[in-house]
Amino acid sequence: HAKGEGGSGWRFYTPAMNEQVLHRIRLETRLRDAIAHDQLVLYYQPIHALTEDLPLIGFEALVRWPQPDGEILPPAAFMPVAEQSAELIEALGRWVCKTVARQRQRWRALHPGWPPLTIAINLSAKQFDRAGLAERIRRAFVDAEGATEPSALPLLGIEFEITESVMMRDPISAEEELERLREMGAHIAIDDFGTGYSSLAYIKHLPIDRIKIDRAFVHDLAHDTDDAAIVCAAVEMGHRLGRSVVAEGVETAEQLQRLHAIGCDAVQGFALARPMPAHQVPSYVQRVSRGDHLQPWLFGPFA
Ligand code: C2E
Ligand code: MG
Ligand code: MG
Ligand code: MG
Repeated sequence: HAKGEGGSGWRFYTPAMNEQVLHRIRLETRLRDAIAHDQLVLYYQPIHALTEDLPLIGFEALVRWPQPDGEILPPAAFMPVAEQSAELIEALGRWVCKTVARQRQRWRALHPGWPPLTIAINLSAKQFDRAGLAERIRRAFVDAEGATEPSALPLLGIEFEITESVMMRDPISAEEELERLREMGAHIAIDDFGTGYSSLAYIKHLPIDRIKIDRAFVHDLAHDTDDAAIVCAAVEMGHRLGRSVVAEGVETAEQLQRLHAIGCDAVQGFALARPMPAHQVPSYVQRVSRGDHLQPWLFGPFA
């Protein structure tokens, strides 16, 4: 043990370790502050149905952290820190829900002619550790929207993305929370499908509307017959269970065309659009509602 060894204090900890710990603590403090002061931002990445005219069906909300020097930190740079603190991940989750609620209220008011668009929100498995997640989410939405009359379906048009790891914690209570979210109008998607370690059995029991195939399988779809087989099997399984299937990380026309041939229901990825700040969303919706800008991807040279 550190203290017993040299008898002269905390020698066990090297300066490098100290630095790491300090860095993490500083990051944690700054993140807590950023959440409290509304300094995070949500980017929105379009999701398109994979039918001939590639209609826009919604967006996935993805959190970003702009730094004073202009750098924009991706979730990988701070989500792991947030997930180490029950209180931080809770605060972040609440901030995301409130921000989406306010944003869609603004879009509804300014663009009444928009088609119904789903907004997907990522949930960390850690958020399920504290009981009552569905109720906390409801509160966040109701608070943010300042609704005077209680709505029976406050989460209509919202989709929650969870990963398989949720099922490895407390599957019964997770299932209950998901059921409650659905009763309030939300849809549920399994994110990063195929990368987790849990058994397939959970898919049968869980109230899931959609399966999102991880981009790792999409990446080599056109060149790796194993990946192609996995994607086919996932689409087939999803459909047989009555779930819709989305492919993530679609970067090329070739991947898009393969997914179309396989019968995948929807797509998301850089080939269609990168995640964009909220202020760019209206012009994107307008552009795609004219209906022809994405077709070259589907009917291009690989078709
Ligand atoms: P995810 O939910 O699987 O989100 C998709 C990630 O893939 C996003 O990364 C997105 O920018 C990226 N992506 C989309 N299309 C492509 C593509 O064609 N190629 C490649 N290479 N990447 C693509 P991002 O925004 O860095 O988010 C990473 C992860 O962080 C997310 O993975 C999600 O697990 C987590 N995350 C993001 N926002 C939130 C949030 O608000 N709450 C929670 N709990 N987690 C979040
Ligand atoms: Mg996601
Ligand atoms: Mg994913
Ligand atoms: Mg992920």
